[in-house]
Amino acid sequence: MDTFTQLIDENIGRVPDFPSPGIQFKDISTLFQNPPLVNEIATVFATYSQGKVDAVCGIESRGFLFGLLIAQKLGLPFVLIRKTGKLPPPTVSESYRLEYGEATIEVQPAYIKDGMRFLIHDDVLATGGTAQATAKLIKKCGGVPAQFSFIAELVSLGGKQRLLQYSYEIQCLLSYE
Ligand code: AMP
Repeated sequence: MDTFTQLIDENIGRVPDFPSPGIQFKDISTLFQNPPLVNEIATVFATYSQGKVDAVCGIESRGFLFGLLIAQKLGLPFVLIRKTGKLPPPTVSESYRLEYGEATIEVQPAYIKDGMRFLIHDDVLATGGTAQATAKLIKKCGGVPAQFSFIAELVSLGGKQRLLQYSYEIQCLLSYE
């Protein structure tokens, strides 16, 4: 680990057994106590996507935090991917399976032009179900899921494998087993 990734790692909280037993929650809110580090992280993300995308979408809710900062640094539009029922119509939705039950996400298609290349951003890549559903949603609206970025991936859950069918450009600043 280089000093930059080590610093990020040290600024991510670990909460055992949250939100359910056996899960170790990676809490990125600790990062936001360190404004220069937040700026540096946003710059690293933006550099990865410079010239490669036409817009950024962030996944509710922690994906909004760096997602908007990345879009601002690149001077690109930002689009919100939200849980069902939160966005005003017209919306397009995509449902996906969770370990128990189902979830649905939505987007406002007015912000997605044909062929528009998107960076899909979220805080943590776990099983990849949410990011994959977002890629499907973008495609359904005529956009292209061109890149993905995450602060951290949980490697053992295999999320990256589910995303490679959309793009090989997947940036994870940290990888946890
Ligand atoms: P998944 O669809 O399984 O890749 O889950 C990704 C979503 O769940 C992201 O929006 C994350 O914010 C959240 N998430 C899943 N596992 C964790 C974890 N261990 N710590 C923090 N957030 C998590």
